[in-house]
Amino acid sequence: MRCAILLLISCLSVFAAKKTLDVYFIDVEGGQATLFVSPSGQSMLVDTGWPGMNARDALRIIAAAKKADVKKIDYVVISHHHADHVGGAKQLAERIPVGMFIDKGPSVETTAQAKELAQMYEEARAKSQHRVVKPGDTIPVKGLDIKVVTADGQMIAAPANAPQTPSCAGVQKDKEDLSDNARSLGVIVQYGKFKLADLGDLTWNKELELVCPANRLGTVDVYLTTHHGLAASNTPPIVTALKPRVAIMNNGARKGGMPAAWKIIKASPGLEDIWQIHFSVAGGTETNAPDTFIANLEEQNDQGHYIHLAANQDGSFTVTNSRNKYTKTYPAK
Ligand SMILES: [Zn+2]
Ligand SMILES: [Zn+2]
Repeated sequence: MRCAILLLISCLSVFAAKKTLDVYFIDVEGGQATLFVSPSGQSMLVDTGWPGMNARDALRIIAAAKKADVKKIDYVVISHHHADHVGGAKQLAERIPVGMFIDKGPSVETTAQAKELAQMYEEARAKSQHRVVKPGDTIPVKGLDIKVVTADGQMIAAPANAPQTPSCAGVQKDKEDLSDNARSLGVIVQYGKFKLADLGDLTWNKELELVCPANRLGTVDVYLTTHHGLAASNTPPIVTALKPRVAIMNNGARKGGMPAAWKIIKASPGLEDIWQIHFSVAGGTETNAPDTFIANLEEQNDQGHYIHLAANQDGSFTVTNSRNKYTKTYPAK
């Protein structure tokens, strides 16, 4: 009898174990804050949103962490040192324990704002470990494979069998981007057969280098639109090389979500849907997803609705809009 009870308890705990990679695309209104929660319970946050505003973005991140039952963020990855990415770091670290901050090294910018952000970021790290990573390094979240593919302007080498990207032909380079965007730390997050790309605010020329002529990244299921869906990023070759089924656009009402980028993503072969954190004012009626797929519709009085994704090891995944609870499952291929 006692054995039977023990067996029952162990069965129940197996059933209760989390089986999905959960991703929360948090609304920081034209910045980035993306929380990944592994089936192991370990977590990684990419970027911390904006500073100020009574810790609005840090509080939104903590609200998402609570939903995911995350009491400590194991890794906070800072893609680059702009205010909409690193800005919320100190306010966040004051409110929830952070195991380790990971970045690509300091900003290349020397403005007063860059110095102020660097100071704040140093204070944010006071109680946490800190590590600088390079392309090819992994971020050791238990249960996931997370590879750094670009950092500080460098990138991983192309694998020997890397396919050529046909859409590279005729695509012109942009003028050199000397900002910290071009130094963004980018990752590919993999859980079983499921893959997601997050390249921070990487810009045009560096995107081209990643996939032209050889595709160093392979394909993914989900593409977090680079640089909020701004037209200085999301070059056609990177989108078609990654060949996502779903794009998630971390735009604000008046930042990112630009028609030129939206059209490139929409036209990508194999794309099933674009989901957006915000309705894009610039997109108007032509280049926005249907309302159902948009987490925040109004420009004023933003409610901070997020998009949630739950991925399975077989590559299938479900996306949910927290505003209207609309949910769509993408079966394994
Ligand atoms: Zn940004
Ligand atoms: Zn930036």
